[in-house]
Amino acid sequence: MKYLSEYRNLEATKKVLDEIHKITTCEWNIMEICGGQTHGLVKNGILELLPEKVRMIHGPGCPVCVTPLNLIDKAIELLEQGVIVCSFGDMIRVPGSKKSLLEAKALGGDLRILYSPIEAVSIAKQNPDKEVVFFAVGFETTAPANALSVLHAEKEGVSNYSILASHVLVPPAMEAILDDKFCTINAFLGAGHVCAIMGTQEYVPLVNKYKIPIVITGFEPLDLVQGIYLAIKQLEEGKYKLENQYSRIVKTEGNIAAINVIQKIFEIGTREWRGIGEIPNSGYVIKEAYRKYDAEAKFNISYINVPENANCIAGEILRGLKKPNQCEQFGKTCKPSNPLGAPMVSSEGACAAYYHFSNNLIK
Ligand code: SF4
Repeated sequence: MKYLSEYRNLEATKKVLDEIHKITTCEWNIMEICGGQTHGLVKNGILELLPEKVRMIHGPGCPVCVTPLNLIDKAIELLEQGVIVCSFGDMIRVPGSKKSLLEAKALGGDLRILYSPIEAVSIAKQNPDKEVVFFAVGFETTAPANALSVLHAEKEGVSNYSILASHVLVPPAMEAILDDKFCTINAFLGAGHVCAIMGTQEYVPLVNKYKIPIVITGFEPLDLVQGIYLAIKQLEEGKYKLENQYSRIVKTEGNIAAINVIQKIFEIGTREWRGIGEIPNSGYVIKEAYRKYDAEAKFNISYINVPENANCIAGEILRGLKKPNQCEQFGKTCKPSNPLGAPMVSSEGACAAYYHFSNNLIK
């Protein structure tokens, strides 16, 4: 399969790993932003094959993990009010303050698990006497489809459809991490799929302000080791620049059509990140002109505000300050069958990656 099997080639991956060992002379901390990259590193055993001096730090790029507890409670409140709530499958087992969406469904809530928000608009058309809300969560990658669903509802005259939106953005999160006084990160692997939408240019100011290498990187084993190699090469040579390892997918300008759809519906605003708190200008909020499609405004649920689980250190893990196996609950009271926090249940969560794929990392 073009662009996939060749990036899973063992020999090619080993060769790059050998090169990494040859060029590494100093200790380097590299953060992979995306949870998909974390899973790729752990699942393929790459963490154990890197030089001891290279430490990968797992970043906040798991959309399910960073969605605040408040928002899950808001979605559950809507279910309990009789609203049809539609969601991607990865959100439904994430714990809210009292229960998950799946538990609310078991108690009678009308929760629909969908692959696309456009399906939710169809459900709204088929149920004109009910309100339908799509739980629109994610980074820049899912924003175009969610924005498109609003445009589709408008075009079709569907007034009983809205979205409960929590879209967060990668560059402000990187800046918040770099501004943390405990930050030890020397370089970043940028999230390839986010850049496929947004392009690469919004990372240039970060490179220049913090004098830090950023390598836009893909998700297959060869992508990951190439990204790490490029980052270490820059660090060892005392350079800092933006590089694009994932050029087979990521273009400098991004996907202009997708960006235009996002900008029609959303504007930049402050967003809360689970376990981290509010970060200014770190997400998308629905523009005033499309406020009637904003479920938070439509159903007056903004008052819901609950504290995070005090036993879950997801915030520290998402900021790269701790590894999952440094959490006291890891593998004991917190397991995929009984998650205390989103990183243990999300398919991109760092805790789930450690739990499922690496016995060595659990010890
Ligand atoms: S192991 Fe569980 S409790 Fe600990 S940080 Fe991960 S999700 Fe939270």
